[in-house]
Amino acid sequence: MYDSIIIGCGFAGAVVARELAEKKGKHVLVIDSRDHIGGNCYDRYDEHGILIHQYGPHIFHTNSKNVYDYLSRFTKWYDYSHEVVGKIHDSEIPIPFNLNSLEMVYGNWAAGMEKKLVDMFGEGARVPILELMNQEDDELKEIATYVYENVFLKYTMKQWGKSPKEIDPAVSGRVPVLLSRDNRYFQDTYQGIPLHGYTAVFEKLLAYDGIDVRLNCQGKDVLRLDPEGEVKIYFEGEPFAGQVVFTGALDEFFDCRYGRLPYRSLDFHFEHYDKPFYQSHGVVNYTVSEKFTRITEFKYLSGQMDTRDTTIVKEYPMPYTGQEGEIPYYAINNAENDALFGKYKALVDQIPGFYLLGRLAEYKYYNIDAIVERALQLAERME
Ligand code: UDP
Repeated sequence: MYDSIIIGCGFAGAVVARELAEKKGKHVLVIDSRDHIGGNCYDRYDEHGILIHQYGPHIFHTNSKNVYDYLSRFTKWYDYSHEVVGKIHDSEIPIPFNLNSLEMVYGNWAAGMEKKLVDMFGEGARVPILELMNQEDDELKEIATYVYENVFLKYTMKQWGKSPKEIDPAVSGRVPVLLSRDNRYFQDTYQGIPLHGYTAVFEKLLAYDGIDVRLNCQGKDVLRLDPEGEVKIYFEGEPFAGQVVFTGALDEFFDCRYGRLPYRSLDFHFEHYDKPFYQSHGVVNYTVSEKFTRITEFKYLSGQMDTRDTTIVKEYPMPYTGQEGEIPYYAINNAENDALFGKYKALVDQIPGFYLLGRLAEYKYYNIDAIVERALQLAERME
């Protein structure tokens, strides 16, 4: 019999499983509905030998030495500094919009504008676009309007079906206006891609005595609520008094009894080309045109720079409706949806030893490092 059952085998589930087995001596079962480990970080070699991220680009970055050191137990790193450009008509400007972007757009005018920006916010500042929009000065307003319209508006309309003003400000705040000449997408101390890919990291995380993994298995195949609808847990038909860590979509575990929690989904279109490179950077954001938001060219991420051919993926955002085959990727955080989440969470709070962890289960926008940190903390807290 298991001490702990973990639903979902992404970073949240895999790190908790490892910690519970290794530090607490638990016998752990990790289940996942897919036919592979790794959740949305799953990567694999495609038929051309290029390491692709099946569920979109995942670039690890963190300021936490603790998280970096922890993951470094399971992998060496490909020293990749992620750079993104925005394709605006015929030009490609660094994203986040920074002082180099400013110069590309405004030429001779840029020096004066730069001084104004730096005087107002300080050198190196990270200014959310919505904050820049509030400035009174005409030149600052001009920059803000340019960036809003050419970097944020159409990309965000595609990604969320709403304008940047209508979504949680924290989301557009992830990609600020950056008052430096650092063209990297992230400024964190540690960044990189696991040298042999993410899936290999998961294989090592899970290769530990006391951890069993069951794939192609839905949470509801093993765990059931009380037949009367009470929130008691049954494992394979018997009442289960152990720990459960749930990392999936919480509404679906409760058969959406209060209605569906809205998530945003993506449709990935992979393409392969018989030429060494497709584009100038690992990711190109299409901020003013096209139906897809961005194109990722994987060889930049994997470091396979010498291959004669290349694989890319285009991301087409779409609503998540819960239909077979669709995948929820992003919580859509706003007051109404967060309140609905609160109702589901209240059900869970009645079940002793039932923990929620991760993007889906906590209905939050977590990066890899944040979820690894939370997983480590949760495992430490669990008896
Ligand atoms: N965003 C944008 N234009 C860009 C990049 C980002 O409008 O060129 C906005 C968009 O709303 C996006 C959010 O900023 O959803 C966060 O971007 P990030 O790159 O962090 O998204 P992720 O990689 O997590 O999908």
